[in-house]
Amino acid sequence: MADDQQTAEPVEEKPFKPSSPSSKLNFDGFWEYNDAPQSTDSIEIKDQYDLFIGGEFVAPEKDRYFDSVNPTTEEPLTSFAEATQQDVDKAVKAARKAFTKSWSTLEAKERGKYIFRLARLIQERAREFAILESMDGGKPIRESRDVDVPLAAAHFFYYAGWADKLDYAFPGKKAEPLGVAGQIIPWNFPLLMLAWKIAPALATGNTVVLKPAETTSLTALKFAELCRDAGLPEGVVNIVTGAGQTGSAIVNHDGVDKIAFTGSTEVGKIIKKSLAGTDKRYTLELGGKGPNIIFEDAPVDQAVEGIINAIFFNQGHVCCAGSRLFVQEGIADKVVQKLRDRMETLIVGDPLDKNTDIGAINSEQQYNKINEYLELGVSEGADMYQASCELPEKGYFCRPTLFTNVGQSNRIVQEEIFGPVLTIQTFRTAQEGIDKANNTPYGLAGGVWTDKGSKIFNVSGKIRNGVVWANTYNQFDPTSPFGGYKESGEGREGGLQGLYPYVKLK
Ligand code: NAP
Ligand code: MG
Repeated sequence: MADDQQTAEPVEEKPFKPSSPSSKLNFDGFWEYNDAPQSTDSIEIKDQYDLFIGGEFVAPEKDRYFDSVNPTTEEPLTSFAEATQQDVDKAVKAARKAFTKSWSTLEAKERGKYIFRLARLIQERAREFAILESMDGGKPIRESRDVDVPLAAAHFFYYAGWADKLDYAFPGKKAEPLGVAGQIIPWNFPLLMLAWKIAPALATGNTVVLKPAETTSLTALKFAELCRDAGLPEGVVNIVTGAGQTGSAIVNHDGVDKIAFTGSTEVGKIIKKSLAGTDKRYTLELGGKGPNIIFEDAPVDQAVEGIINAIFFNQGHVCCAGSRLFVQEGIADKVVQKLRDRMETLIVGDPLDKNTDIGAINSEQQYNKINEYLELGVSEGADMYQASCELPEKGYFCRPTLFTNVGQSNRIVQEEIFGPVLTIQTFRTAQEGIDKANNTPYGLAGGVWTDKGSKIFNVSGKIRNGVVWANTYNQFDPTSPFGGYKESGEGREGGLQGLYPYVKLK
């Protein structure tokens, strides 16, 4: 040993080089992550999907299909059937037949068993659902895997539990189903929004006709396959794909007893007008422009992480995104600097890479809309800061963006952008923060960050939003009701409250 040491050549000191070609140092001298792509080998995507009506996949009357694009590659992923009014009529009739013949007469306990089975099947095929969601819609696999799919399963589990306990949900009353529910959902949380809609409807004995968004219909059709695998009686769940016209055909169909809509305030207003004068029930979950209020006594690092989550989670495609930040004056510079530093470390890119923080913008249309708002913000005189990350050459990607030097009347402060874009304003007193937070037509969700419990109660009680998170953001649970004030919608989904829109109480 001693000899070896004496004869050993002096070792030349070389800087350590990573073994993998994809590991590299970034400009700040931090190690970058290796690529960690999620394999798609086990995933089966058909070239074309039909409508799911009466327990079967059926071709649309007019035999028309439209492409669904993968926003990461800009290439078509598959194509979906375009349902016309006749197809919607067929689906509503199938749902009515199922309602009268099987579902509403089935023992509640048995209904519950089917819903439990759907929940378990989602869990069993969770990875497949997550990959499909990321391919079709562009969201990072980490989110579809850890948020969308587990929460969707949790919703089915939760409402399965209610199916035979409605007498406890409504003591002294008898809860009767309404009949056929027409349900229309957006593209930001495709499977999760489906779960929010279908689970309470089925638990209360209703049947459904659901239309997913045209850019993200894939997981709804995979869910249709689960309904078949679960042996769900035919016609209890019907899925019709198509554009806005298909949604409109559902809304205006005489055979529908209730409309559950999640989407933009603009379309929500059209739907509300169409429903005026009818006896259809409705719930509307619409847009938002969430305020996130940070007080000087807040734990700043924790708050910065919360702000990042509130606006950059899911590319800002979140109705309850914290898209307006209000920082108490004394810590404004510090918070903005910390935000900028943190934004530099966010990984924007392939949604199927497990390290990706910000995936692809859902569609070309939404990508263009976000870019128009960025230009608008600059032309309104705001200061724009974007993370310096490189973007993939192909695909609809957007850098995380901050706007400072903005005023209450700026359109980027008032209008929903639905992208990774944050506006920052300051305030001095709690009242000023509250007034500014309430100064939009929306009222869906927001956040308060402070060390003082009393301030949390004071401020959150005065913010006119359906949800106010304290020292956290974007926390969801099936037991908790969700919904908006003002132009953010009507009615609540989730929790015990989420059963009300689907029952007549006697
Ligand atoms: P959207 O354009 O309103 O579309 C929502 C759904 O409605 C889609 O399936 C759409 O079909 C359909 N639709 C379009 N025009 C219609 C019409 N005239 N009648 C009936 N249905 C029609 O909204 P989006 O752009 O998909 O989603 C983003 C919006 O949803 C944002 O404003 C966001 O804040 C909101 N959102 C709210 C919540 C909440 O819980 N409050 C949750 C998630 C999202 P197409 O896909 O073919 O357009
Ligand atoms: Mg798509």
